Amino acid sequence: MSTEQNKTESYDAAVVGGGPAGLSAALTLKVHNKNIIWFGSDALSDKVEKSEKIANYAGFEPIGGKELNDRFIAQIKTAGLVLTDKMVTQITKSRNGFTVLADNELYKAKTVLLAVGSVPPKGIINEQEMLGRGVSYCATCDGFLYKGKIIAVFCGAQRYEHEVEFLAETAEKLYLYTTYESTFTHPNIEILTKPMKAVLGENRVEGIELTDGRKIKADGAFFLRSSVAPATVFKGLEMNGAHISVNRSCETNIKGCFAAGDCTGRPYQIAKAVGEGNVAAHGIIEYLAKE
Ligand SMILES: Cc1cc2nc3c(=O)[nH]c(=O)nc-3n(C[C@H](O)[C@H](O)[C@H](O)COP(=O)(O)OP(=O)(O)OC[C@H]3O[C@@H](n4cnc5c(N)ncnc54)[C@H](O)[C@@H]3O)c2cc1C
Repeated sequence: MSTEQNKTESYDAAVVGGGPAGLSAALTLKVHNKNIIWFGSDALSDKVEKSEKIANYAGFEPIGGKELNDRFIAQIKTAGLVLTDKMVTQITKSRNGFTVLADNELYKAKTVLLAVGSVPPKGIINEQEMLGRGVSYCATCDGFLYKGKIIAVFCGAQRYEHEVEFLAETAEKLYLYTTYESTFTHPNIEILTKPMKAVLGENRVEGIELTDGRKIKADGAFFLRSSVAPATVFKGLEMNGAHISVNRSCETNIKGCFAAGDCTGRPYQIAKAVGEGNVAAHGIIEYLAKE
């Protein structure tokens, strides 16, 4: 679904998240002829995909999550939307709007919508603090920094294994923890059986501590997941525990930045995500008209 985007252009909106909330907002913005850049994964939403049967979504007889996701994909094609398969790792606000960093490319947008799903607020201990000081979310962007070095890698889904392979070919040694049963092997890889608990180091990553107390020396740590904690991506974003604080118009504390879906709080439901995506899109349209 990805195509080459014009990175020097300032988009009306950057929509971050390819689940129901992001899709709903992208559809509404498109109908209103807004020029958007939409980030997410080609797989859309893991959560929808994993739902065995969705029996409470208006307009549908009970439907399997995979089938609903397939319908979302068809709808994206029909609407002529483009989903850019990139992970957003940083957003900053400037006088004229926002700068979005996605897989090492910068994009400019007048508004931002965070529709990133529910994610743990900070990852593991010290992960957020060490971002850019040895912690990375992007193998393609930062892998080259670890040529001949030791790294620890958290891999949250099979689809990131090509990134693990790339890192294993670059690094001298790679400690790998996967959240699923993996048969992936490489001569440089040592598989960890216990989850990671903390990133070690004060000014730079020095290693990783596992839940059994074992400490591993490492020069860098990669976390390959489908999402990054919103407060890590966008410094200054007001949170309410693990959720982004919003008002009824889905506005965050940062002017021009909206949030929708599971990331704003419970109930974690498709109907709520779709509804908030729509509310946020209308908020964006009004905001652009005023500006
Ligand atoms: C097993 C299971 C069963 C469920 N059953 C039901 C049900 O029966 N009925 C119901 O209504 N709901 C159900 N849900 C809940 C429903 O799936 C969620 O409420 C819904 O998917 C939320 O949509 P969302 O768009 O807010 O977030 P998500 O669906 O989580 O989508 C967010 C997407 O954003 C992307 N993303 C995150 N961070 C970034 C970033 N930094 N850069 C780029 N992309 C990013 C991720 O790839 C993610 O896919 C179920 C969930 C699960 C797990």
